[in-house]
Amino acid sequence: MTTGIAARIADRIRHSGPVSVAAFMTEAMFDPREGYYATKNPIGAGEDFITAPSVSQMFGELIGLWCAQVWMDMGQPARFHLVELGPGTGQMMSDMVRAGRAVPGFLDAARITLIEASAALKMVQGRTLTPMGVEALWLDRLEDVPDGPAIIVGNEFLDCLAVRQAVKQDGHWHERMVGLDDDEDFTFVMGPRLGMDADLVPARLQDAPDGTLVEFRPGDRQLVDVLGRRFSDHPGRALFIDYGPAQSEPGDTFQALRGHEKTDPLAAPGTADLTARVDFEQLGALARAGGLDVDGPVEQGRWLKSLGLEMRAAALIRSAPEKKSVIARQVMRLTEPDQMGELFKVMTFSTPGLPKAPGFAPEA
Ligand code: SAH
Repeated sequence: MTTGIAARIADRIRHSGPVSVAAFMTEAMFDPREGYYATKNPIGAGEDFITAPSVSQMFGELIGLWCAQVWMDMGQPARFHLVELGPGTGQMMSDMVRAGRAVPGFLDAARITLIEASAALKMVQGRTLTPMGVEALWLDRLEDVPDGPAIIVGNEFLDCLAVRQAVKQDGHWHERMVGLDDDEDFTFVMGPRLGMDADLVPARLQDAPDGTLVEFRPGDRQLVDVLGRRFSDHPGRALFIDYGPAQSEPGDTFQALRGHEKTDPLAAPGTADLTARVDFEQLGALARAGGLDVDGPVEQGRWLKSLGLEMRAAALIRSAPEKKSVIARQVMRLTEPDQMGELFKVMTFSTPGLPKAPGFAPEA
């Protein structure tokens, strides 16, 4: 299948040479007219991929209560920004709000702000949240959120940030790029040696042997800078949940999902979800260097259980006994090691000195 996006990237390569994996990913996902997110809602059983909020209402409910606890730990500020990065269908925020209503004053104080790049998904989010009486503010970038205390959440947001790849050759990092083969199909090619950007390669992997492939996200540093500035001026805490290892690992994880199947990430850009795993060790190191307190990564399964997932499931089953097996399956999907329980991790970045975030206490 050829798309307008594929033709445009191919033209660019013919004129100016290969493009970075990050540039390829950005075009494919965010082209305003034909990009993957520009045109459709990809999340759900009948679509391309499933995320935790679409598995169960319990996920967003526990995150809503987590935010309410953080608000209390911040001293119950009379106004604060409750920000979600990449809210998808709005499902998680709607579950957060429903659970948050149980905590007096929490939602009255919250200014709900959604950071969303896709016009199509903004519409879906509005359709989910407006009937609940939620008055959300949509902004394009986290930097645009006005001053003030903030609690920020993002599920499967970091994995969408554009990723670059490099391979070590003769002791130096060279960028792995996307070019065209003899049939004019996209193919990976070796690009120039990384200059100053070589220090974006995760610290643990800097000394890896020749032939090692690594991934890094320039957007990680930018995000951590924004959070560091924001949380030094006003109290704040950000929660990220995503897939990836606790320690930086080498290897190519750039992947495409279409109809719940992995496909070739270079074929038909704009028609499949492109992501790569998140490097929590590197993110944590950047955040610490930027003056933030860091907790985690903790495995999603352990984190959800410590927040009371099983108690919430039992309560839901008591009120709807006929749903017992469905709810039990949802708990397994979110927590079992061979499902989302171990691969997905949870991490927070905070203003120094806030009480420990719920779910991050050291193991007894
Ligand atoms: N959090 C949701 C959706 C995950 S998909 C869930 O768990 O179901 C990723 C979401 O992030 C989408 O809403 C996508 O449009 C948005 N997104 C990705 N990169 C973005 C960026 N740079 N700025 C704003 N939104 C972005």
